[in-house]
Amino acid sequence: LRNPVPLPRPTKPLSITQYTLSLLHSSTTTTTTAPPYSPATTFLIDAATGRRLSYSDFLRATQALASNIQSLHPSLSKNDVAFILSPPSLHVPLLYFSLLSLGVTVSPANPLSTQSELTHLIQLTKPSIAFTTSSLSHKLPSLPLGTVLLDSPQFTFMTTTTTSFAQTEPKSHVIEVKQSDSAAILYSSGTTGRVKGVELTHRNLISIIAGFYHNGTVSDEDVPHPVSLFTLPLFHVYGFFMLIRAVAFGETLVLMERFDFEKMLSAVERYKVTYMPVSPPLIVALAKSELVPKYDLSSLLLLGCGGAPLGKEASESFTARFPHCEIVQGYGMTETGGGATSMVGPEESKHHGSGGRLAANMEARIVDPGTGEALPPGHRGELWLRGPMIMKGYVGDAEATAATLDSEGWLKTGDLCYFDSDGFLYIVDRLKELIKYKAYQVPPAELEHLLQSIPEIADAAVIPYPDEEAGQIPMAYVVRKPGSCITGAQIVDLVAKQACLLLNYLHKLVSPYKKIRRIAFINSIPRSPAGKILRRELVSHAMSGASAK
Ligand code: AMP
Repeated sequence: LRNPVPLPRPTKPLSITQYTLSLLHSSTTTTTTAPPYSPATTFLIDAATGRRLSYSDFLRATQALASNIQSLHPSLSKNDVAFILSPPSLHVPLLYFSLLSLGVTVSPANPLSTQSELTHLIQLTKPSIAFTTSSLSHKLPSLPLGTVLLDSPQFTFMTTTTTSFAQTEPKSHVIEVKQSDSAAILYSSGTTGRVKGVELTHRNLISIIAGFYHNGTVSDEDVPHPVSLFTLPLFHVYGFFMLIRAVAFGETLVLMERFDFEKMLSAVERYKVTYMPVSPPLIVALAKSELVPKYDLSSLLLLGCGGAPLGKEASESFTARFPHCEIVQGYGMTETGGGATSMVGPEESKHHGSGGRLAANMEARIVDPGTGEALPPGHRGELWLRGPMIMKGYVGDAEATAATLDSEGWLKTGDLCYFDSDGFLYIVDRLKELIKYKAYQVPPAELEHLLQSIPEIADAAVIPYPDEEAGQIPMAYVVRKPGSCITGAQIVDLVAKQACLLLNYLHKLVSPYKKIRRIAFINSIPRSPAGKILRRELVSHAMSGASAK
């Protein structure tokens, strides 16, 4: 257990929003130095339009929104689920904070998801209401309390007006949110199979923010006011907790509704961005791109990096180009609600290739995956984690929850790791099925299901294949039916185009990042006696160069 920090009494009624705002307003109550904050401090900037919202604007708008949601939807109750499908606009932080203050569980999903993927998520979480944009609303089924369009005049009215809808004191003042109440359902495929809903409580989120706050990542008085630029999706756990963290620290946050590398560089220059939480492909791009010297990026002091492994070479070539900018790495999963390990301070960030040390109040074990035996530092095994950040479970899926969380509260991460003798974590490989393409989750089971539904395919398996730019790409091993001469290119095309035009086979759609990017034919897919695909054998086969594209 590293670096315990105080947490509120678990029985005290407290929502993540109350806790975060109390930190924002009480900059003098902790031992760490909080950044200078005043209500006039800019909280949000839209990088594309330059539109700004101060902290006082933000707080006023969230209160107005919360009371108007209550007035318009009086049957929306605590612990109901609100589904959110939106690009990372200024509306999203407003929605998160107002819904969470009402005790409504927020469930944001990837706007690139296809209709059939969204149907699966909605069946899992059973939301009462949805918030989306007019261009995305066609993807959602109708819900009991309807759909609110974020780009409608009605929504703007809901965030600006407190008189028309809500004549009375907002009910949020009397809603008692317990720390054990569910706050968010985020989506992950976990260690195996299809996407599941990860249920995180207010207590989970409070403990993540408490760890950050009491370890104080911002301390020097001569450091400029922190301005973060988010290229992260706000529906993913990384963007989700970093957004809440930014409020606790009174930071300024620049949001990019649409990612564009050059526009990102220009926003760093324009808004004097000091900090960016990123995933490894962006570090690789910053280290290599010819566009970088065109912009003044000297304000950048820190990059937080997580979500996928960052190679030592990438991190060293970045440091050679940006000697004044530190990379602080972290490791986590949707199921850990945030960074379960991270680096704190310039000394720790010198440990290239490590995910840092255990987060506050967390316990870790390295376990031999064969025998279940706990292993000492320096030995590789599966990482197990326990602590107040760990999810409550997979919503409505007791079986998957029991397979991941044991009776003593240990979360089996499915990652092969070791700790060195100083407590730094090194992630060696993934034991689980998950493929991470540019830090996006690609569950092989989904692509296998699609491939197996093509009549000319007898069997198929999907594995991760290493790629310098993306980290990993999905590679398919395919067994053709006797007599079939379907080509690799046709299969790749079929899945990529998400369509049935060529062979009229596929009825499902696949998100653009979930593509087969390499393919090989094989006589049979190796399986265990229980029928489980032996992916490691296929990975070794692919790495031995025995397969061709
Ligand atoms: P997600 O739930 O999408 O955040 O995916 C979690 C998985 O991403 C982890 O179980 C790891 O396999 C991988 N991951 C996250 N952070 C790192 C990191 N710093 N280094 C290597 N893999 C990582």
